[in-house]
Amino acid sequence: MGEKMNAWQMAQEQFFAVAERLKLDDDVRDFLAEPEEMHIFSVPVHCDDGSRKIFQGYRSQHSFARGPAKGGLRFHPDVSIDEVKALSMWMTWKTAVVNLPLGGGKGGMTCDYKALSERERESATRAFARRLSAYIGPDRDIPAPDVNTDPTTMAWIADEYSIRVGHPEPAVITGKPIELGGSLGRSAATGRGVAICVQRLFENLNESVEGKTVAIQGFGNAGQHAARILEIFGAKIVAVSDSRGGKINLSGMSANDAVREKLESGRVEGIEGDSITNEELLELDVDVLVPAALEGVITKRNASRIKARLIAEAANGPTTPEADQILHDKGTVVIPDILANAGGVTVSYYEWVQNRARFYWTEEDVNERLRTTMRIALDRVQASAREFQTDWRSAAYTYAVKQVAEAVKARWHQR
Ligand code: NAD
Repeated sequence: MGEKMNAWQMAQEQFFAVAERLKLDDDVRDFLAEPEEMHIFSVPVHCDDGSRKIFQGYRSQHSFARGPAKGGLRFHPDVSIDEVKALSMWMTWKTAVVNLPLGGGKGGMTCDYKALSERERESATRAFARRLSAYIGPDRDIPAPDVNTDPTTMAWIADEYSIRVGHPEPAVITGKPIELGGSLGRSAATGRGVAICVQRLFENLNESVEGKTVAIQGFGNAGQHAARILEIFGAKIVAVSDSRGGKINLSGMSANDAVREKLESGRVEGIEGDSITNEELLELDVDVLVPAALEGVITKRNASRIKARLIAEAANGPTTPEADQILHDKGTVVIPDILANAGGVTVSYYEWVQNRARFYWTEEDVNERLRTTMRIALDRVQASAREFQTDWRSAAYTYAVKQVAEAVKARWHQR
């Protein structure tokens, strides 16, 4: 509970610091300091043993200022009001930093989803979706997968919503299976976005990503695709890890072989190379470090020992505020999560656009548009960090909050 309180306190503190820097008017600041809407509802579910359990459902819609709310749904026992509020606020800044015409939302259900049977999962998801349907819609709020939810979960929610409105409505949710209107390129989008940011940053420094060494902590969806695409761009993947530990191969490993090994055996242990711990991986002498697992892994305890020149945050919140300061002081560039991992929400937006147009793009189209969007966003944040001599996270937040505040003010102007 204490930790969850911290997420919301942290989100608000970050926001108030930026509001101060931007000298936001008090009314705009107060409006953005809380979600525009917060929905809490009970979800009764029939269990296999004949009992009925009541789960709690949440949907926080932090901002509609720039468009419909957008953000994931997580099914986990620790989901709380404060957690979804914080995550929805961060989504508002993330969609703004890449200039998507969307706001920020997040929701979930307090349940031990992994412990449920397949029938209970479908039943719980459909019961949750029936209640959630009152608050979402293709012009209002478009959820997506997050912790413990996946394309199958999204398909059940799209189905319940479509039954409610009386016609198929794929645009109400993203991250769907391809056959239900999911977008090509979505599964690789977060990792691809990370790789595009890294490539562009070196280009802007008149260097090339070719030959740069990369260590990746966390070898799941984001980590694997970042590795694969950075390798295609010419970088050398020297270390990867999962929750059990990592492998290092200084002459470079084949990203495809590493991914195959992880998918087949479920672990990175079988990858050729020497074993290292997750802590050692973070402190390797590499050009690029990609944290792609958990939050809070780069702290004041290890920040001064980090040797990478560049950290690209595929994970959400891997660097604590104290560590940020240490890294900035020693000249390490941190591409912040709201920019580095925004490839996922960007392709989610493309999915929604395709659903609404009922016109579907090739994977090449998706990837090309993603490349353009991420490069423009990276350039903007880099230029702003340079102009105001700030770290990249401050630059990204400042840009994002300014965009949202201006949209709020423009709406209020006529009243
Ligand atoms: P995932 O579950 O597919 O992969 C997570 C990986 O991290 C796994 O390989 C797991 O073994 C590893 N891991 C877990 N605990 C670890 C530990 N203590 N040390 C090292 N590795 C550990 O998850 P994902 O979708 O790749 O997400 C990873 C991060 O990226 C999360 O912070 C998530 O919020 C963020 N993110 C993902 C997406 C996306 O589209 N997948 C989008 C935005 C942000």
